[in-house]
Amino acid sequence: PIFAAPAMNVEMWKNQATRANVATLRERGVRFIEPEEGALACGEIGAGRLAEPERIVAALAEVLARVESGSKWSGRRVLITAGGTEEPIDPVRAIGNRSSGRMGIALASAARDLGAEVELILARHSVAPPAGVVLHSVRTVEEMRAAVEEGMERADVLIMAAAVSDFVPGSVAEEKIKRSEAGFTLRLEPAPDILAEAARDRRPGQILVGFALETSRGEERALAKIEAKGIDGIVLNDPVLALDGAENEVVLLTAAGDRWELPRAPKSEIAREILGRLTALLG
Ligand code: C5P
Repeated sequence: PIFAAPAMNVEMWKNQATRANVATLRERGVRFIEPEEGALACGEIGAGRLAEPERIVAALAEVLARVESGSKWSGRRVLITAGGTEEPIDPVRAIGNRSSGRMGIALASAARDLGAEVELILARHSVAPPAGVVLHSVRTVEEMRAAVEEGMERADVLIMAAAVSDFVPGSVAEEKIKRSEAGFTLRLEPAPDILAEAARDRRPGQILVGFALETSRGEERALAKIEAKGIDGIVLNDPVLALDGAENEVVLLTAAGDRWELPRAPKSEIAREILGRLTALLG
């Protein structure tokens, strides 16, 4: 785990560039021990004093205690998918979705911090991938399917946070589709359900968890998915927050009947909470 306890001039701390950099680091899992208000070394007054040593120590102790309890993850091989798959319809166009990859990337960072050996299968994304994990870049459903199949030979746990297309074009035009007055019809066929396939082919002891995003009857549908896909648990996303935001609010449901509500928080925090709950499944 990486901590930052910044100290600087108040205008520097409030500056837009600093705010953006702090947000980026937070997204990558760096934990901030916020500076305190008061008289600054430069003579000005405001937020920017280094946090008191007691506060720094308390923040470290809290996280280290969690890492300790997370030792069940230590050395586990965790395969995570993130981002949105994209299907070409001609050489320059594709259909995809608005997934940023943030939730899966946050899970990969959190699992890494708990001592797991993480492989991240990353489709199209809009935030930086984490350091310290093995990265496999993919684009289409077929590429993700092959990477998951290969990764499952090693994995103890699969968490599918990627937004995988449910439909793929029946055919891909070899030439760029031309503008025409008549319009054209794009035929979509069902995509293979990668998670269900992985569950069908699982080795004894492998744990599989999916994500769900529903615009209505969320929990009922998420529970049905646990059944239909044959998986151990599912994280039901908030349909408004989840797709490309920095925060999320989820319900984690398991095949064993557990139900945990994780209230709105940055995705890095939600990721840590999810892994904390999944510890129970590790046996
Ligand atoms: O069935 P639905 O698409 O709602 O299920 C979502 C879950 O299944 C997610 O974990 C997603 O990564 C996974 N999925 C998949 N293959 C697909 C579509 C979704 O593995 N073609």
